[in-house]
Amino acid sequence: MKADLFDQRRLLELQAVDTTLSQLGQRRRKLDADPAFAAANQRLSALTDKAANLGGDLADLDRDIERVEREVELVTKRAENDRARMASGAATAKELEGLQSELESLARRQGTLEDDQLELMERREALETELNETRRQVEEARQVLADAEADRGRRLGEIDTETAEATSTREALAINIPDRLVELYERIHAKQPIAAAELVGRRCGSCRIEKSPADMIPIKSAPIDEVLRCEECGCVLIRTELPQSKPSTLASEDELKKYQ
Ligand SMILES: [Zn+2]
Repeated sequence: MKADLFDQRRLLELQAVDTTLSQLGQRRRKLDADPAFAAANQRLSALTDKAANLGGDLADLDRDIERVEREVELVTKRAENDRARMASGAATAKELEGLQSELESLARRQGTLEDDQLELMERREALETELNETRRQVEEARQVLADAEADRGRRLGEIDTETAEATSTREALAINIPDRLVELYERIHAKQPIAAAELVGRRCGSCRIEKSPADMIPIKSAPIDEVLRCEECGCVLIRTELPQSKPSTLASEDELKKYQ
């Protein structure tokens, strides 16, 4: 394929924009997979679970406390009834003995229940403190995540803006390059990220492989408007060390010496 060297060189500008677009894509993927974001999400989820569990434990404990309170009420009421019966003077001696023994037993039971109550209240207090602290941490984690989300949104917005700019630059560039050359570039670009690279000395700017002096012979002897391809990586090899105003003829010996 033949194309004006000036047009060929425009492929390098197109390549630069495509490289920018590819970097923008990488930045976007990196943001999507940001470990800090995942960690903030995970922390919030773990703390929310912990708060829910503590809330459940607290509800269980409240039920236990209520149960003990009801039992204390029953024991108190039973003791009151027993004492009333004893004070009524209607009870027989045997009954009085029985009532006395029951009152002693009820007093022991009440003592145990009150110990339980105290222990439960202490546990409740500790649990409530832990739950309040966990709820505070949940709010904190929620804020960290919201900040991370806002930051990601802002960065994605920047990427969107830069992508739109690069895309319009690309369109403007492609319009000014002959269609056949753009088509060739696009075909190569579909297969590999670098479709056009500069020939620097004997080195391909894409694969970085240095051409042997023998490989340089056809390159050196190629007409200036010949579209060259790197035999190693397949990209369009652009000669930038030749003068831009060079007409579409064989390069002079002096100019070709620069490649050696
Ligand atoms: Zn190459």
